[in-house]
Amino acid sequence: MSEIKFYNTFSKQVEVFEPVEAGKVKLYSCGPTVYSHPHIGNFRSFLMADLLKRFLAFKGFEVSHIMNITDVGHLLDDADEGADKLEEAARKEKKDPLEIAAFYIDSFNAAAEMLNMQPADSFPRATEHIQEMIDMISTLVDKGHAYVVGHNVYYDVTTFKDYGKLSGNTLDDLNAGARIEVNSEKKNPQDFALWKHDPKHIQQWDSPWGRGFPGWHIECSAMSSKYLGEQFDFHTGGEDNIFPHHECEIAQSEGASGKKWVNYWMHARFLMFDGEKMSKSKGNLYTIQELVEKGFKQNAIRYALISSHYRQNYNFTFDGLKAAETAIEKISQCVFTIKDKAKGNAETSVRDEVTAFINKAIAEFDAALCDDLNVSKALAAVFELVKDANKLADPTAGEAEAIVTAIEKIDSVLGVLKGAGEEEIPAEIVELAEQRKQAKLNKDWAAADEIRDKVTAAGFVIEDMPKHEYRIKKADA
Ligand SMILES: [Zn+2]
Repeated sequence: MSEIKFYNTFSKQVEVFEPVEAGKVKLYSCGPTVYSHPHIGNFRSFLMADLLKRFLAFKGFEVSHIMNITDVGHLLDDADEGADKLEEAARKEKKDPLEIAAFYIDSFNAAAEMLNMQPADSFPRATEHIQEMIDMISTLVDKGHAYVVGHNVYYDVTTFKDYGKLSGNTLDDLNAGARIEVNSEKKNPQDFALWKHDPKHIQQWDSPWGRGFPGWHIECSAMSSKYLGEQFDFHTGGEDNIFPHHECEIAQSEGASGKKWVNYWMHARFLMFDGEKMSKSKGNLYTIQELVEKGFKQNAIRYALISSHYRQNYNFTFDGLKAAETAIEKISQCVFTIKDKAKGNAETSVRDEVTAFINKAIAEFDAALCDDLNVSKALAAVFELVKDANKLADPTAGEAEAIVTAIEKIDSVLGVLKGAGEEEIPAEIVELAEQRKQAKLNKDWAAADEIRDKVTAAGFVIEDMPKHEYRIKKADA
């Protein structure tokens, strides 16, 4: 059995995975800030966590997964400047921040379901964990890691010797590049807010330091330790979370507990769109819903987003989505065909050479994912299995079942076959296809052709299968 290895952003090395607790995995993922519709770039990192989680379950681990929902405190520039993203959206849309949050949580959930993401065990919300954050801030003040100025509380980064280790940003480098802040009440330019006082902020809570609201970073430290404990296995996010967000989270959590916090940090690299950076101004921040409206299949979007290595910038294109549809079709067609070929052969035995190619494919799939989630290599093993299965001219029922079971096992990790090959075919088209089968059985070729033309005109294709069976598909647009 291969060792499971992952690249750890913290050590900048590929490391062998050892769980904190044997047989169990605890995973925390930075979730959405619910002020707008999440886009494909956001889902690349959420799907990296989903693939990781499904793979660890495939390896027999019991996985606990927590993904937070940020509904307060995330400011526009990711640090301590600018308006709160939720409040800004609330002002623009003339709604309450909680209505904004509710609306975009629904949007996130709908897209996550379209992408067949396994829901986390819990999706804690920042606004529902204010007390936990206040408690952690108080601990940081008591331990000398944080200081109070008026009604604000800041983290003193010079008190945490490992500050900068995750991102590689040393305090000297950061200070050299820092803007000179006029009238700053911070001791050091890199200190960050844990609790903020702002009379204009809509969402406010009482605290030992007066009414205010929490900084963005503290929510992940407070909520992860509430749900996963003071030490756990994985923390995931997008590469844009590395600094300042995750750097600050480490300073807070380890500053408060005095212990090592997270063992493996995994970050997904940015997505490009058609070779360009994705941005609001370029109009290429597509949402999942928009791609589905354009006629792309949900599982193809998932496939495209997971099919290249998470540590590479993936270039997302519409052609790539079409290629993903074809790839999924190949796998689902293999399942359909092998079952069809085995009809009428009730033999349950499996020939040795069939067992051999199935085992080889599963072993290669497994080994590839053990190698820091090398998904492209894992997919190559899947298509090798499909090729070998398609070559079987006369599979037994037992062989068909073994192949289908193997593909289902593989898909418990990939999650791309849900809904594949089950397109909505209108009843009248199904009726026509059935009439055509009868016409062919009666050797009335003229009638069969005429019916086929009607089906084609309606935008569908009948594919003939052995033993007069058939399959109806939507014609490609
Ligand atoms: Zn976070």
